[in-house]
Amino acid sequence: MTAASTLASTPTENIAKIVGDVGAAFRTGKTLPIEWRKEQLRQVFRMLDVHEKDFQESLFLDMGKIKLEAQLFEMGMLKNDIIHMLTELDNWLAPEAVSVPEPYQHWSPTVHKQPKGTCLIISPWNFPITLTVLPLIANIASGNTVIMKPSELAPHTAAKLTELLPKYVDPECFQFVNGDKDQVTELLKHPYGHIIYTGNGQIGSIVMAAAAKHLTPVTLELGGKSPAIVSDKANLALAAKRITWGKFFNAGQVCMCPDYALVQEDMLPKFLEELKKTFADTYGDDASGKISRIINNRHWNRLDTLLANSKGKIFFGGNRSESELYIEPTVITDICLGDSLLSDEIFGPILPILTYKTLPEAVQIIAKISEEPLGLYIFTEDTAESDFIRKNTRSGGMAINDAMGHVAVPSLAFGGIGGSGMGTYRGRAGVDTFSHRKSVATVPTTEEFEGLLEWRYAVPSGDREEKYRFMKDNLEGKLTV
Ligand code: NAD
Repeated sequence: MTAASTLASTPTENIAKIVGDVGAAFRTGKTLPIEWRKEQLRQVFRMLDVHEKDFQESLFLDMGKIKLEAQLFEMGMLKNDIIHMLTELDNWLAPEAVSVPEPYQHWSPTVHKQPKGTCLIISPWNFPITLTVLPLIANIASGNTVIMKPSELAPHTAAKLTELLPKYVDPECFQFVNGDKDQVTELLKHPYGHIIYTGNGQIGSIVMAAAAKHLTPVTLELGGKSPAIVSDKANLALAAKRITWGKFFNAGQVCMCPDYALVQEDMLPKFLEELKKTFADTYGDDASGKISRIINNRHWNRLDTLLANSKGKIFFGGNRSESELYIEPTVITDICLGDSLLSDEIFGPILPILTYKTLPEAVQIIAKISEEPLGLYIFTEDTAESDFIRKNTRSGGMAINDAMGHVAVPSLAFGGIGGSGMGTYRGRAGVDTFSHRKSVATVPTTEEFEGLLEWRYAVPSGDREEKYRFMKDNLEGKLTV
């Protein structure tokens, strides 16, 4: 966490040329063969495999990322996703026949998936490899060329990716721009096939407004306040263990981690007892070597102020050190609506706990805090309860009896709703997002078929009444369904 980074910013005056070059690489057509795409995907896998230690080191330097956590959510997850992509890609890219009404059955109506062109990936610092490489592999699979703009707040990892990736994949088709908002602003002056931005909502609006000028489609992967509901029908020991894991993973700097817990009020004492046991098992007397660091002083101070302003009671933790960018895993009880910890996404290792009496009340509390979070978690052994919550809340995704469990499944699309984002990617959803679905009909040319189309052509006499009647009687639908 001390070594100076070697990340060099891309001069803004070079960006137009980079965009032009990556666009020209697309127009060569070299990304079109599916086997070429698969080999690029294998090369990304090899890079992650060969340089595992380099990446662990850069992630540690950027945010003291714990090795197991880096392996699980960065290198390991990406490698599994690449294998899933390689296994399924032929199927996902195969032309799709569509079902059609009888008159068009001989027109071979088919949807062909085509690359969108040159796409832009703007990524954040909290999973600096995954959130650059996951959209990259979806773009490679879709046949696009790509410009990547990693976060300047994780400079060691951005520098490592910029150094290594061009040694493995086609360096003309996949290029980096490094820097901060100046480089993003310059990049956003150009049109793209698609832009995917992952980060906070304020910048998301800037990206979307810039994209609108060129009518460039966007996917926005944002954050929010994701609740973890603990019902009186939950396995409390398991809920405590899984919420602790999900909340303090990467020191709570995870877009879809539980932001706060909402516990059925009769269960609170027992739940806190289980949390106490989990904390003892997980962290012992000293958590400092077992949790990642806060990314920088600005975010540390933000979290420090949230804690200082909260009217809740510290149940665990609260120790912190700015010089080490450390915040102890902290649990706060007696939280009321309006508390500082409920204002914005916490994005740090602090778990406020609120209580509710009934599930309909829990739904109302969630709506007041943040109506459309990225994730939503309910711990209950009663499917009627989890069904109720699934139907009565809106969130990007949801896991029942786990925190973030849905993200383990590579075939589940990932994405938000409303304030937590728009659009999805990952697995098949990634190929669907970054490919254009071109609708194609092949109209028969035989004389017999042409006879069937006769009704649509003009007649010299100008009298079209007969044709009009034919069309109405034979081709216009009747409401029978
Ligand atoms: P960040 O500060 O690294 O910013 C993200 C990107 O935006 C960077 O590449 C940065 O250079 C660029 N940027 C910053 N300021 C800009 C400006 N003024 N104009 C143009 N570009 C600018 O990351 P962050 O926003 O702090 O990331 C954390 C947020 O991201 C949290 O809200 C988190 O929930 C969200 N997030 C979402 C997901 C998801 O998949 N939905 C994943 C991770 C993080």
